Amino acid sequence: MSKIAMITGASSGIGLATTSALAAAGWEVVATARQPETADTLRALAAALPTVQVRALDVTSDASVASCVSSVIDDLGAVDLLVNNAGAGHRGTLEQLDVRELAQTMDLNYLGVARVTKAVLPGMRVARAGRIITVTSLNGVVALPFSDAYNASKFAVEGLMEGLAAVMREFGVHVSVLEPGPVRTPFFAKLGGSVDNIAADDPYKELIDRFTATMAALGSAGQSPESVAEVICQIAADPSPALRYQSSADAAGFAARKLVDPTGNSILDATGALLQM
Ligand code: NAP
Repeated sequence: MSKIAMITGASSGIGLATTSALAAAGWEVVATARQPETADTLRALAAALPTVQVRALDVTSDASVASCVSSVIDDLGAVDLLVNNAGAGHRGTLEQLDVRELAQTMDLNYLGVARVTKAVLPGMRVARAGRIITVTSLNGVVALPFSDAYNASKFAVEGLMEGLAAVMREFGVHVSVLEPGPVRTPFFAKLGGSVDNIAADDPYKELIDRFTATMAALGSAGQSPESVAEVICQIAADPSPALRYQSSADAAGFAARKLVDPTGNSILDATGALLQM
């Protein structure tokens, strides 16, 4: 019998590619989207693949999470693999940000992951089996400039999962994080932030314009969502998965630069250089 994988944010990008890849790898996939009725590509994929079904799930809603997870368990018996993927970026440095923007980004990228994970944990704990893979970001290890709300949300998820992994290992449940570098998805086109309408005389304007151009170039030169999906499939199939993965050799090199330098100076030189390009 196929094992059940549930993925959040499957309407586009990494989530959509992971839905296909997991189905090809033999998983029965519950691909969730906050608005399935507008997720045309995902619905077409599900229509073509009998082992993919689409369900509604908004990770910012307690009621939506409870209803989706309990209906999956009622209908299919279990969630064997959860892929926390839903998320969004956000631009701006702290002085430019409204506290509400910080809260909204935390609600989606951090509390969204916490809500869905909390809902599947009891079943996995009782079964003494299961795995949780959370797509964080290189921004969960290395904080990039003009990404303060996003950095904080992804650092928060990394902390949540690192602590959880040690406990759930005692119950036979594997918890891993995947830290992609730039990936060619709609993510960059959807970057929000009150800096979208920045005034011409804003003291940060020149720096943020330069940074935005650098990130756009890095984004369009980034890896494909399909290659990230392959890494997710490898983690899902690994009998003893690691806690932390990066999605490419470049991303691993960048993360390593942070992790080996306790002063933080090496990484500050690297991220500061992004403002000079
Ligand atoms: P994407 O194509 O924009 O995918 C984001 C997905 O999250 C979409 O399906 C979106 O659904 C969904 N989503 C947004 N708000 C939601 C909510 N409240 N409830 C449920 N789903 C929601 O971008 P992506 O690059 O594939 O991003 C996937 C993950 O990778 C994110 O966690 C992101 O932070 C991470 N990541 C991306 C990159 C990159 O360079 N692209 C790099 C590192 C990490 P809608 O279609 O309804 O908006």
